[in-house]
Formats: sequence, structure tokens, C-alpha cells
Amino acid sequence: MENAHVVTVSGAEYPDGHIVVDGDRITAVGPGKAPEPASASASASASASGSASTRDTERIDAAGCLATPGLINTHHHLYQWASQGLAVDSTLFDWLTTLYKPWSKMDAEVVAGAATAGLGWLAKSGCTTSTDHHYLFPKGRGDLFAAEVEAAREIGVRFHPCRGSMDRGESQGGLPPDEVVEDLDTIIAETEAAIDRYHDPSPGSMLRVAVAPCSPFTVTRELLLKSAELARDKGVRLHTHLAETLDEEEHTREQFGMTPAEYMDSIGWLGPDVWLAHCVHLHDTDVKRLAETRTGTAHCPSSNARLGAGIARVSRLLAEGATVGLGVDGPASAELVPLAGELRQAIYLQRARYGPTALTARQALEMATLGGARCLGREDELGSLEPGKLADIALWRVDGFHAAVDDPVVAFAFGQTPPLQRLLVGGRTVVDDDTLVTVPQDEAGRRGAAAHHRLMRLAEEVL
Ligand code: ZN
Repeated sequence: MENAHVVTVSGAEYPDGHIVVDGDRITAVGPGKAPEPASASASASASASGSASTRDTERIDAAGCLATPGLINTHHHLYQWASQGLAVDSTLFDWLTTLYKPWSKMDAEVVAGAATAGLGWLAKSGCTTSTDHHYLFPKGRGDLFAAEVEAAREIGVRFHPCRGSMDRGESQGGLPPDEVVEDLDTIIAETEAAIDRYHDPSPGSMLRVAVAPCSPFTVTRELLLKSAELARDKGVRLHTHLAETLDEEEHTREQFGMTPAEYMDSIGWLGPDVWLAHCVHLHDTDVKRLAETRTGTAHCPSSNARLGAGIARVSRLLAEGATVGLGVDGPASAELVPLAGELRQAIYLQRARYGPTALTARQALEMATLGGARCLGREDELGSLEPGKLADIALWRVDGFHAAVDDPVVAFAFGQTPPLQRLLVGGRTVVDDDTLVTVPQDEAGRRGAAAHHRLMRLAEEVL
């Protein structure tokens, strides 16, 4: 592709540049026209306003487009597509205690429909890699983990599902009712089975599994310890929620006499193989520990605002050199939030709290790409447009209403999310002309609505 404004995120920016893709990798990025291929047999790329194909080679005129690395979503709960629009004015703890009831009734069909719609929606907003944190496995309701893995394969995005878990119900001082938690031995066995079955550590992997107990207020210390042991034994990453609300801080101070971050530090849960969702309520010492242990943060600004949780100290984390990625969080706490829109939300929240220089458009773009890749341990092959990296590329149309802003990165980050001309995942087209193409877009939406109606039916008696 050529004639695009190319933002590599690794330092260079080409206002009139090209990207060459061969198979699933980027082979060249630079200024001016794309070089002629040495042979027309193996190159492929994407087309915007016009394209010309010669045998297997496609040459694309991307004039009027901004090319960025595909966006990386570092925190999500896909199943929540089926429970959107409930408890809309609640705090996190009230919202959770309301939603545990319908969630306890979900089955594999609900998860399949919700994940198809959720991942389709993410792809439509420029996301090429998404994680998911699934932590509720009601008994006898089918293979929920397999259902979301299959949905990701169908949509065609790179997927990092986290086998989540909860083992501390109300009777043990936890938040969830006892009927939605699992016992520790089952959790460890099922998590190990999910890693053995699905985790692909090879270069260019489309699927990597992480181990993810839900949060300090829903799991036991023993589960956190055993999960870390399992993940490090298997060479996979660790994920959980942390320091999302002041209620949580109060809870961990009461139960353990420490802040949430101190508690996790005390049990070996900070480190370069860990990324944590939210980290809203961090003390200065917590920020420093996250930075020095190279622990990642998944910043979810819309969800934090929607639940009134607070504003994460992102600019301070970045200033300390910590790794920060962006996430949309589950669609039940951030209804229909597009990943690209989270750049603006992140910028606005930081500036509202810390002033106009707290976060720039390019810093927000780096969080949504390279920062996310670092959270997932994929910075060697994702997150920037460089030769040798995977061809996960978003081509945004900025020649319409956005064109009155001279800097297309500012137009992209500050404005309404522009139409997506093309989205490539490993060189494969997932979105074309602003329309999802791997699964018909209307059908993906219908499957999500059907999942919602099915869950509401299954949960009728508890709602
Ligand atoms: Zn979450």
C-alpha cells in the first residue's frame, strides 16, 4: 500500500509513505511509493480508494488514509455482550452483585454469540489483537472457553483468552455468591487443560492463553499462588483486575492489611509476565513498584468513568516508565465502546485531572498499540509497523470530515473514530470498506442480540 500517512509508532512517521506485506509479515516501510516486487509471486497488500492486482500481488493506492498498527485490546469480558444495559447507575460492587445472577445462567451458546458480536465490533474499531478475561464457568452449561476460541477464529482476530476463575464466595468473605465460584483443584486442572489444548507459543501465533484469577476480592490467596506457579511452569502470562475502586482498597486493607498492589507484590504477583486491569487507585509507592517490576497496566477509561471508579494515574505511570496498554473492558460496564474511541477517552480523562499536557495523541496511540503488545509479551512481533513484524495494520479514512485537521494523528485520536478502509490481521483482510467481512457484519450483530435474548430468557427467574 502507498500514498498513506504512515505512523510506525516505533519512531518514524511518513506523511506520504508505503508499507509492503508478504504473507503474514511486513517486509518494508518507508517514504514514497512502494518498490516494485522482485517477483510478482508472493506479495500481497491492501487497497484503499483504488487497487491494482497482478497475479498474487495487490498494489493499493491508500491516498487519504492514515496507516497505524492494528490496535490491541488488553482487557475484556466478551460474554458481557449478552448482559449490556443492566445496573447502569451502580457502583462496581453493586453492579457485580446484580449481574452475578444472570451470568450464572449463561451457556456456551450465549458465549458464542456474545463473543462473535464483541470481537466483530472490536475489529470494526481497528482491533487486530484482543484478550478476553472469562471467569465464570457455571456447571453443566457446555464448554464456554471453546466457544469463545471458536468465535475468535471465525472473526479472524489474534486472540489472547485468559482462563479466569473465582474460588472465594460469600461464605469465605468474598463478593460473589457461592454458587458461581469453583473449587481450587477444578480451576487449576481446567486452566492447565486450556493451556495444553489451545496455547500456541510459536512465532506469529493467533492464540495464546493466560492464567487469570478474577480479583483480590473474589479469589483466595492460595488460588493466586497456585495460578502463578502454574503460569510460570507453563511459560504463559498472568492477568487479573487490580485497584479498580476504593471499595476494593478498603476490602484488601481489612482482609490483608495492605493496599491491593502491596498484597499482590507480597505474593509474587508483580513482574514482567503480569498485566493488571485498571490500577485506578495506586499510591506513589505502588506506581514505582509497577514500573520497577515491569508489570503492565490495562487502562480502561470508559469503564472506569461509566462505573464512577475514578481516573487511573496513567500519565504518572508513563512518566515512571511503566508499561500501559488500553482496554475497553466488558460491554456490560462500557456499552458498545469502540477500542479506537478509548484513545480520546484516555486523553480527555488524563487532561481533565492532570492538565493539557498530561497525555498526547501520539502517546495514546502508542498505548493502544506498542503498550498493548508489551502487556501481552508480543512487542517483538506486534504493536508497530516495522519490517519483520506481523502485518496487523489499520488503514483509517481521514479524507472526509477529518480532513480539516492537518495532523491526521490528532484527527484520529481526538475526533470521532474515522471509517476503517481496511483492517489486516497477519496480512488477511478482516474489515474492508468499513464492513466486517470474515463473518457478515449484520449476522455478527444478530448473533450478539440473540445471545442477549437467550441469556435474559435463561435468567428470567433471577432477574
Ligand atoms: Zn474487567
